[in-house]
Amino acid sequence: MKNTLIFKMGLAMMLVITAFTGCAQNLNLSALTRAEKEGLLLMREEEKLAHDVYAFFANKYNIPIFRNIAKSEVVHQNMVIDLMNRYEIEDPSFEEEGKFHNKELQELYDQLTAQGTTLIEALKIGAYIEELDIRDLKQLMQETENEDILETYEPLLRGSENHLRAFVRNLTGRGVEYQPVFLSVEEINAILNK
Ligand code: MN
Ligand code: MN
Repeated sequence: MKNTLIFKMGLAMMLVITAFTGCAQNLNLSALTRAEKEGLLLMREEEKLAHDVYAFFANKYNIPIFRNIAKSEVVHQNMVIDLMNRYEIEDPSFEEEGKFHNKELQELYDQLTAQGTTLIEALKIGAYIEELDIRDLKQLMQETENEDILETYEPLLRGSENHLRAFVRNLTGRGVEYQPVFLSVEEINAILNK
């Protein structure tokens, strides 16, 4: 009988603890602003855009850069998905490559894959996508103080800087000078000279 009582008390305590944990999660959840959530959804699909475009070019052009960087974009997507899961934000993304909910990203995918008819064009598109990523990540990081988001975006930003260097180096090696689109000349030079 005593054992049952102790068991029941233990169970009640566990329920209280679970209820508290639930509360804490809900507090965390409501701590995300609408803009932060929208930012996560944008980056979720922007990382997919990078992956899907590079996967498309990897099938077209036989140099390792597209396949290698596409792998890194899978890791980046998973980092955003992990954070979305933690905040119970549903991942709306299509599994199919080249399909997006975000209209602008869908248009961009269609346009960029059609435009990359030569290896040089495809490498320029790679640098263009990384510039876009860097611009958006920097902006989203400026607009939030949420540590979880900042800790997720930081390695994505470093990754994009690495990728930008790789694409630009590949172009330079082929005698092509890359002209930045989203970043200023000072900004891109600072990244390239890191
Ligand atoms: Mn990325
Ligand atoms: Mn990248």
